[in-house]
Amino acid sequence: MKILAIGRNYAEHIKELNNQQTGEPVIFMKPDTAILRHNEAFYYPDYSQDIHYEVELVLKISKEGKNIDEKFAPKYFDAIGLGIDFTARDLQTKAKEKGLPWTIAKGFNGSAPMSDTFLPVSDFADLKNINFSLQVNGELKQQGNTSMMLFDFNFIIAYLSKFFTLKTGDLIFTGTPAGVGPVQIGDRLVGFIEAKEMLNFEVK
Ligand code: MG
Repeated sequence: MKILAIGRNYAEHIKELNNQQTGEPVIFMKPDTAILRHNEAFYYPDYSQDIHYEVELVLKISKEGKNIDEKFAPKYFDAIGLGIDFTARDLQTKAKEKGLPWTIAKGFNGSAPMSDTFLPVSDFADLKNINFSLQVNGELKQQGNTSMMLFDFNFIIAYLSKFFTLKTGDLIFTGTPAGVGPVQIGDRLVGFIEAKEMLNFEVK
């Protein structure tokens, strides 16, 4: 099982980090050891002083495929969950400055808290109009809608499958909307798809 992730997929988030829109998706990976399930606590690691939350919709791949045509992409994912793409922003900034890979900044242990529930795609009336959000300590910090994505689900599936054979059970983080920020020990993060609570865990 692999976790693929898209960066810079919401224009307002690109602006807040002073990044450039690239015309093509920015792709990175997380190892399976990044996953936290069952609302397990996230333990703040000592190698970063600036871990940021990024709430994202996560696609679950339901069928093996490569070089998938965009129009067939809907056959390859069957469920949508919610995840946090925890990012060690200080390590990422250092890597960016040197033109080095983001691997440790994005893939460290516990950097992918994930909802246990994945909602069947058939539950959604319109995949281009899904609301999701993140509250930190009861305060709304991030709010996204899939209509704001630069690259939609079908494009993402088609694009990724050019480089990586997608396998059943693979997970794809689809990018974060604006509002990212640092977490502190003691914070409680609660994430929603529409009004449904998907994630609820503490930073320790
Ligand atoms: Mg992200």
